[in-house]
Amino acid sequence: MKSNTLNFSGGPGALPESVLEMTREAIAALPDTGISVLGMSHRSDWFKSILDEAEANLRSLLGLSDDYAVTFMQGGSSLQFAMIPMNFATKAYAPPEYVASGYWSGKAMSEAAKVSAMKVAWDGHSAGYRRLPDLHGLDISPSAAYLHYVSNETVEGLQFPDIEREMPVPLIADMSSDFLSKPCRPELFSMMYAHAQKNLGPAGVTVAVIKRDLLERIPDGLPAILDFNTHVTHGSNYNTPPVFAIYVLTLISRWLRFEVGGLQAMQGINERKSRRLYETLDTLGDAVKIHADLPWRSQMNVAFTFGDKRLDEAFIAEAREHGIVGLEGHRSIGGLRASLYNAVTEQAVDKLIDALTEFSLQRA
Ligand code: PMP
Repeated sequence: MKSNTLNFSGGPGALPESVLEMTREAIAALPDTGISVLGMSHRSDWFKSILDEAEANLRSLLGLSDDYAVTFMQGGSSLQFAMIPMNFATKAYAPPEYVASGYWSGKAMSEAAKVSAMKVAWDGHSAGYRRLPDLHGLDISPSAAYLHYVSNETVEGLQFPDIEREMPVPLIADMSSDFLSKPCRPELFSMMYAHAQKNLGPAGVTVAVIKRDLLERIPDGLPAILDFNTHVTHGSNYNTPPVFAIYVLTLISRWLRFEVGGLQAMQGINERKSRRLYETLDTLGDAVKIHADLPWRSQMNVAFTFGDKRLDEAFIAEAREHGIVGLEGHRSIGGLRASLYNAVTEQAVDKLIDALTEFSLQRA
């Protein structure tokens, strides 16, 4: 096993070995063109075919109808936090509502509040962001511009269960840390977005899947680069896009579709990884504290602590000796976090489990 596969970082994270190999080759020269991917023109036929393939693979993986536009953008999910209220919180509707479920939803909300009036639909702050609400049970104004939530809170390790039925207002989800980790029902969303650096590629590109009827609401007069319609009408090629990041994203979408066998198969693997890790942590009893309450434990980010900063640091150091990296918790809450994104293998999780068990036995 190569060391990349023992990368449990919160993102940018592990990429599949086969994709890394093709990327290495493409940096030297792309097989069909003899040109390095790093020097490839964004106006070339080759790049046009890459954009087309990335979109086709995402449409196939998600089962997306033509009611949705797919765009590849820059600026990360943070730019989406600002653009969403600029584009969709228009005067014709009541203020958008936001679910405050953790660190990243907080960032989305503070950006929205600078742009428009907004409402907090639910706030988990007083309970330490350890649980999540039932979205269907929230009291949302039927004329709200949209409801925004973060499907997986990367820092706290909280994940919403799948949406079951249509919401009364357009639903917008930041799926940065669980996009393409399992099937979803796109028809229940007006917009889904995710930066690439967790489940779908390197940093530098962000995918936004937007229902076309939402695009019709966008007010005139926005700067072109901040208007979703610009990116849709220019086929994600308005200004120079991140050619390299989009190329690697395309390879990952190919890997997911044809090597892994789709999102159902990916979900099976992801379920096994997280179940085994949580089971191990549960057997350690009071020696560890998992941040999330049981029903909302994330399959992607397992945030926990040994309850003592020195022990957490000792485990990080010991794990590193086994080639395991990226376990530091987010700077806002500390502790440990094992991120189990798509490219983290079951074998890598087994190695982490072995290291955890060994560490705990030494201290029993
Ligand atoms: N949303 C979520 C759920 C995240 O995990 C992150 C970063 N890890 C962001 C948004 C911010 O993304 P970016 O750094 O691409 O702006």
